[in-house]
Amino acid sequence: MTALILDGKQIAQKLRADWKLRADRLNALGIAPGLAVVMVGDNPASQVYVRNKIRACREIGIRSEEHLLGGDSTAETVLGVIDRLNADAGIHGILVQLPLPAQLVPSVVIERISPDKDVDGLHSRNLGSLLAGHPRFLPCTPAGIMEMLKSTGLDLRGKEAVVVGRSNIVGKPVALLLLQAGATVTLCHSQTRQLADHTRRADVLVSAVGKPGAIGGEMIKLGAVVIDVGINRSPNGKLVGDVDYGAARERAGWITPVPGGVGPMTIAMLLCNTILSAERHAAAQGIELKA
Ligand code: NDP
Repeated sequence: MTALILDGKQIAQKLRADWKLRADRLNALGIAPGLAVVMVGDNPASQVYVRNKIRACREIGIRSEEHLLGGDSTAETVLGVIDRLNADAGIHGILVQLPLPAQLVPSVVIERISPDKDVDGLHSRNLGSLLAGHPRFLPCTPAGIMEMLKSTGLDLRGKEAVVVGRSNIVGKPVALLLLQAGATVTLCHSQTRQLADHTRRADVLVSAVGKPGAIGGEMIKLGAVVIDVGINRSPNGKLVGDVDYGAARERAGWITPVPGGVGPMTIAMLLCNTILSAERHAAAQGIELKA
């Protein structure tokens, strides 16, 4: 069996066409959807991610602004910038690029973002709404994964889904979304015993570990949908996922490449959340958005 490729760029492109119409409609009404990206320090990988996000915003008609702060910035400085952006009516989404330098506590910074502008969906209020089953903003990577699964046409009800990795950004929220979609979900992590016994049962396998080779081909059920979230730098400088792609392609039914899989979908969902936030802002002002 050779797996079909779940091409994140292609799926994102299709979704973006619809969102561009929504952004155009907002712009025509004088509400320019606005995203602020806050980056602290000069982590090279973060610089690339931020550049890609800014470019994607431009393409779709979202106004974006970058707030680049020195790597030695204090919590007071960073929180001050977030406070100003929270109060800025022209900004509908605020994203703080992670990771943050060691002197900053990520949860403190994220909790300072207004939940109404938390387009990354990581504020505890938004994660809580997700848990309760009425999410306002879905975290971008998990939401992108669900869109990819939707594109396969697979009915998730009753399927075995195994998620490897339990971060607040990826593992836990994607497990919740899979659960809400009717899958039977197993959430694995570094303390899980006999990981392969779990992964081999998975009709849907999501790996968000951050270690190349974490998922070998023999750990995959024949015909499974394999979503590789990991982004790792191999010793020869190439970007690779967590999954042994060559071996996995021979067993999976569907597989995401790295790069070009989950990454573009994460950016796409950020655009979606920003437009959604601007639409809510318009509705709160009594502006009617006709379809
Ligand atoms: P974290 O480091 O926060 O979480 C990693 C998880 O993997 C932890 O839950 C950890 O377990 C688990 N883990 C570590 N080693 C093993 C192991 N040997 N077996 C099973 N589980 C293990 O990472 P993130 O969730 O933030 O990111 C994961 C990966 O996804 C990274 O490579 C990151 O770069 C990438 N990423 C990609 C995105 C995209 O858009 N494509 C977006 C976000 C992340 P424990 O909790 O017990 O420590």
